[in-house]
Amino acid sequence: MPPSTSALLFLHLVAEEHVPDKLTHRIAARMSAAPPERQDIVAIGGETKVDGREVIILGPPLVGERYLSADSCCDATRHTRAALPVNGRIRLSQRFAVDWEQLDADGRIYAGVRENPESYTIFGKDVLAVSDATVVSVIDGLPNQPPGKLPVALPIEEADGNSIVLDLGGERYALYAHLERGSISVRTGDKVYKGQVIARVGNSGNTLAPHLHFHVMDSSSPLASNGLPYAIDRFQVAARSPGTEAFDAAEAAGTPLALRPLDAPREMANALPLDQLLINFARR
Ligand SMILES: [Zn+2]
Repeated sequence: MPPSTSALLFLHLVAEEHVPDKLTHRIAARMSAAPPERQDIVAIGGETKVDGREVIILGPPLVGERYLSADSCCDATRHTRAALPVNGRIRLSQRFAVDWEQLDADGRIYAGVRENPESYTIFGKDVLAVSDATVVSVIDGLPNQPPGKLPVALPIEEADGNSIVLDLGGERYALYAHLERGSISVRTGDKVYKGQVIARVGNSGNTLAPHLHFHVMDSSSPLASNGLPYAIDRFQVAARSPGTEAFDAAEAAGTPLALRPLDAPREMANALPLDQLLINFARR
C-alpha cells in the first residue's frame, strides 16, 4: 500500500464443519519505511460475532428458461466488493446480489438494436415475489435508460431505478431493481404471496442493459444495509458461462455466449445460484 492510504481486504472463509461463534482478525505487517526496530507490527482486533441464523429459503424471482446469474457470489467483484460508506459506516448491501440476464435460443443477450431495451431477451419478463411478504417501499415512474452505457450524473435516490423492497420477516428484506416503468402492480403495505407477479424487468436507474438486480439485506434501506445470503428452493443449472469477461463481451456485441455444457443438467435444491450459470426456473 502507498503511504497514508487505507484499503479494504475481502476474505472468503469456507467453514466445512465447525462454524465458529466469533471471528477475530490478527494482522501482521511489515512497514519498510519505519525505523528498523518498528518495522514489524501485529494487531489483533475487529472481533465479529458470526450470524448463526439459518439461511432464508426463497422461491425464484423469475420464471422460465435460460437465465444467466451474473456478478453473483463469490469471485465476481461488482457486487461482492460494492462497499459503500453510508451514514458513517461501510456497508455491503449487494454482496450476495445477482444481476439476472437471459439468453435467447441462440445464446444472445440481445438481438437487434443495442440501444433499444426491447431488443434484450429478458426485457419485460415477469418478476415474482420470492416469498409471502409485505411490500415496504415502491419506486416507480423512472424511464428506461438507453442500453449500452451507464447514465451520467444520476441522483443516488434513482440508482435502483423503479424498484420494490419486500419485508420477508425475521429482519430480512428483498430488493428488486431496474424494473419497467408502470409495471409494478403492488403498493407499499400490500401483502404478496410467493410466486405472485409483482413487476416486469426493465432498464431504469443505474444500469447498462436490461436485467433484474435481486438481493437480500438486513434492513429495508437498499443502501444502509448489509447483504445476507439466501437460497432458492428449486432451480436447474443447465450450463456454465465461460466467465464475466466473455459475458461482458457478449453483452456489448450481442454475440452468442459460448456456453460450456454440463454432462447433464443439475437439479438444485435450497442453494444460492453462484456466478455465471445458465439457470432454468420451472413453472409451478
Ligand atoms: Zn446489480
